[in-house]
Amino acid sequence: MKKIGLIGGMSWESTAIYYQLLNRMARERLGGLHSVDLLLRSFDFQEIGRLQTAGDWDGLTRMMVDAARGLEASGAGCLLVCTNTMHKMAAKVQAAVDIPLLHIGDAVASAVHDSSATRPLLLATRFTMEQDFYLGYLRDRHRIHAVVPEEQDRIEVHRVIYDELCQGKVIDSSKQTYMQIIEKARSDADAPADGVIFGCTEIGLLITPDDFSFPAFDTTVLHAEAALTFAGY
Ligand code: GLU
Repeated sequence: MKKIGLIGGMSWESTAIYYQLLNRMARERLGGLHSVDLLLRSFDFQEIGRLQTAGDWDGLTRMMVDAARGLEASGAGCLLVCTNTMHKMAAKVQAAVDIPLLHIGDAVASAVHDSSATRPLLLATRFTMEQDFYLGYLRDRHRIHAVVPEEQDRIEVHRVIYDELCQGKVIDSSKQTYMQIIEKARSDADAPADGVIFGCTEIGLLITPDDFSFPAFDTTVLHAEAALTFAGY
């Protein structure tokens, strides 16, 4: 079995979910006292968020590359970047190491292809919804044409992620807001969404696939499952 190297702390709220999911699924797959063999590099998210807001993506890329090299040197056999947003620099991180970076977009794409969804709504940070690194990855590599909410809704989805979920606040009115945004996309007269991607690793704290009668894709769960399979569990 390969050691799984996690680059986390973005935020630790979702890294804790990865840790729990990986261990729980390892036990489910192997039984007994099995748990996952992993290494974690966990960042202070205050600093990461400051650099994101400042647009210092080069600085952030250096931090991710250093973390990846450190995990590789410590024996990791694969890497998980435990956030969708920080896949913005996934190609550069991958180029800096010899072990595979298991891209969160590949895990999601595989689940979307296994479902009936052809036009999923992407809920994520504004960086992920408004830049092309994630939508373009899904489109160009996997032929998945995801859609995003309108601007005011993107601002609110982003605010809830940073001001609430990444700070451990799960607020019912925000859940209702997310549900309304999803319903709006579903009932769009011209081009309705037929699924929803939780494209931020904290969104599963607020809503779950069980809340929906159509395909919903929780990137955290799908990423963790893909990692376990790759690592040989
Ligand atoms: N965890 C979130 C994501 O999946 C947001 C935090 C971040 O910017 O990394 O995108």
